[in-house]
Parts: sequence; C-alpha cells; structure tokens
Amino acid sequence: MSFSSLALSDKLLSVLAEKGYQQPTAIQAEAIPAILVGNDLMASAQTGTGKTAAFTLPLLQLLLEKADRESNSRRASVLVLTPTRELAVQVNTNISQYAVNTDINSLVIYGGVSIDAQANKLAAGVDVIVATPGRLLDHVRRGSLELTTIEHLVFDEADRMLDMGFMDEISAILKQLPAKRQTLLFSATFSSAIYDLSKKLLQKPIRIEV
Ligand code: AMP
Repeated sequence: MSFSSLALSDKLLSVLAEKGYQQPTAIQAEAIPAILVGNDLMASAQTGTGKTAAFTLPLLQLLLEKADRESNSRRASVLVLTPTRELAVQVNTNISQYAVNTDINSLVIYGGVSIDAQANKLAAGVDVIVATPGRLLDHVRRGSLELTTIEHLVFDEADRMLDMGFMDEISAILKQLPAKRQTLLFSATFSSAIYDLSKKLLQKPIRIEV
C-alpha cells in the first residue's frame, strides 16, 4: 500500500515524501481510513509504530477539508491529551512538521511554565492543542480556554495517563467537551481500567491491534 492511495492532500503527501516515508506502517494503514470517515478508534500501539502520524495525518486532512475553516477565525477543534510534558512536546513537534505546508497551527500546553504566556497564545487562536491534563484544566478553570469547539479528541498513551492518576482530570475535561465528537484512544496495554474508560469515551469504536 502507498500513502497516495489514502486520500490525503498533496500538502501532506509532500511532507511524507520529504521525510522519506515509503509506505504507511501497519497502524497507519488501518487507522487513517477509519479516522477519515469519522469513526472512533481504540488502538493498541507501542511507541515506534508510527502511531503519531496515524492520528495526525487524517485529523489534519479533516481540518483541511472543513469548508468553513478559512472564513472563520481559528478555533480549537483538535485536542490531543498526553500523560507527560515530554510526550506532549514530541507530539506537537510532529504535528507542526506534518502541517508545515498548511495554515493549520498547533500549540502545546503543559505545567511548570508560565500560564499567562500560554493563555496569550490561546487567545490568538489555535487549531490543534496538545496538552497534559492538569494544565489544560487550569486554563479551562481560569477561562483562558473553552473546549466547546473541540470536534476530535485523542488520548495518547491512555494507560500511562491512568497509571499517573489522571482519571479525575480526565473526567473533568470530558464534562467540558461536546458529546458529539470523534474520539481516538491509543494505549500500549489494555487493562480493565482502559476498557472501562473506553466504554465511557468511545462510540462504536474500530479496534486496531498492531
Ligand atoms: P511514533 O510511533 O509515532 O513515535 O513514530 C516513530 C517514528 O517512526 C518517528 O520517528 C516517525 O517519524 C517514524 N515514522 C512514522 N511513520 C513512518 C512511515 N510510514 N515510514 C517511516 N517512518 C515513519
């Protein structure tokens, strides 16, 4: 299979060609078409399988296809939650690289640094937010971010998020999100806690194991 058979814009395909990606990885080949048609997803995938591009490429494609994008000011429509600051930074760097030929922008939000600087960037408008749960909630509670415009929600390394005790934050975030949204859950392992979370989060998910 080639990337060009995956219904992705030339703006995205050209980045993949520059990066020297020859073909989609197993998770990309399964996840990209499923995400493009709007399915929820429950995917088991370790780091190194290409899982970041597996959700980023189709979500960027969906944003590019949104007819009303250009006439509107930027409003956050994709939220990626990660357990750690390091992963948030890494995912955000990947998203920026894949989006380099588009006008889609993304912002990373994590704790331990000035909240005002992040609030100013949020106020200027972003399409994609990559965040750790605690600091994201801080922004919601102080009014510098509304989650009502989110249409696509991604949990990256959901098992680590639960292991690190983020369930309360996740529940609080979910209350702020529109019920009508696409949700994608990635986890290295599938414990009963992850299944419980997925039942709360996902509607008729496509299951992928690689
Ligand atoms: P990830 O699992 O998302 O952390 O990705 C692992 C690494 O694989 C990253 O360095 C990506 O740049 C790289 N990668 C992702 N997709 C592909 C692909 N289709 N072909 C070659 N390398 C890829």
